[in-house]
Amino acid sequence: MSQTTAIQAAKLLPAVSDRHVDPHSYPQGIAFLDGQYLPMSQARISVLDWGFLHSDATYDTVHVWNGRFFRLDLHLERFFGGLEKLRMTIPFDREGVTEILHNCVALSGHRAAYVEMLCTRGASPTFSRDPRQAVNRFMAFAVPFGSVANAEQLRRGLHVAVSDKVRIPPASIDPAIKNYHWLDLVRGLYDAYDRGAETALILDFNGNVAEGPGFNVFCVKHGKLSTPAIGVLPGITRRTVFDLCAEAGLAATTADVSVAALKASDEVFITSTAGGIMPVTRIDGAPVADGKVGAITSRLMARYWEKHDDPAWSSPVRYP
Ligand code: PLP
Repeated sequence: MSQTTAIQAAKLLPAVSDRHVDPHSYPQGIAFLDGQYLPMSQARISVLDWGFLHSDATYDTVHVWNGRFFRLDLHLERFFGGLEKLRMTIPFDREGVTEILHNCVALSGHRAAYVEMLCTRGASPTFSRDPRQAVNRFMAFAVPFGSVANAEQLRRGLHVAVSDKVRIPPASIDPAIKNYHWLDLVRGLYDAYDRGAETALILDFNGNVAEGPGFNVFCVKHGKLSTPAIGVLPGITRRTVFDLCAEAGLAATTADVSVAALKASDEVFITSTAGGIMPVTRIDGAPVADGKVGAITSRLMARYWEKHDDPAWSSPVRYP
């Protein structure tokens, strides 16, 4: 059973219709590479690409739920911002990238998809060590939707461990450039597994909570929400939580979040394009408050998924 099917079967997220799914479509998804659309298994890059050798790349991920892109404009803005900061150029403007993403999803036939656009530094035709000589490479792909939390974790909340690993500081890499520098996050994950947890949060350079592998974190205390201010990717789902809070009249702010404050929260949840708003009910083996998914978290989760049908927040995939 696919993750989407399991999540829907558990009635945790709204249903996805199969209206456009073509039985001859590509279950593993479709990639766009070197001007061609390919099945995922045929999408390959050179081992000499600096994206692979040096993590010299930027990317963005948007999701499609029930045949609609969610906040694609914000993802494109962040991606093009990353390209500019890394001095990379691609032969497509926003409309061009938008068309490629639509085509990847439409060709794949999927109604619930995880859609990535990325650019690597590429390789130099003369093996030069000068990044200016490299030919930048744009790629995109649409694969089946994936979530950080599975159906059971969405229902009962994730069990998280706080690792002492420190997220790469903003003075080294601007976290607004979405990147593949994940060794700190992966080391944090192994710490979490060693302690019997399901995923990890790691720290900022001041010892406060930063983020986890592929997600931001929020805590709720006395009805007010806060999320780490520094050293984190400004997630689009994090931004969406702020927008939902503004609509709902809830107070939300960016601030330093100490490990002690996190553990003393009334509610904790994580946010990611890969799964949306996902509850956390145990931290380092201890329950968050009464150990149940909190009321504000549940309310925001429902609002978040409702917005996926709202034309102000989502746009339909151009299926054939
Ligand atoms: N933090 C990191 C390190 C991430 O990689 C991601 C997403 O991949 C996030 C946070 C969440 O960002 P978004 O809500 O835009 O998916």
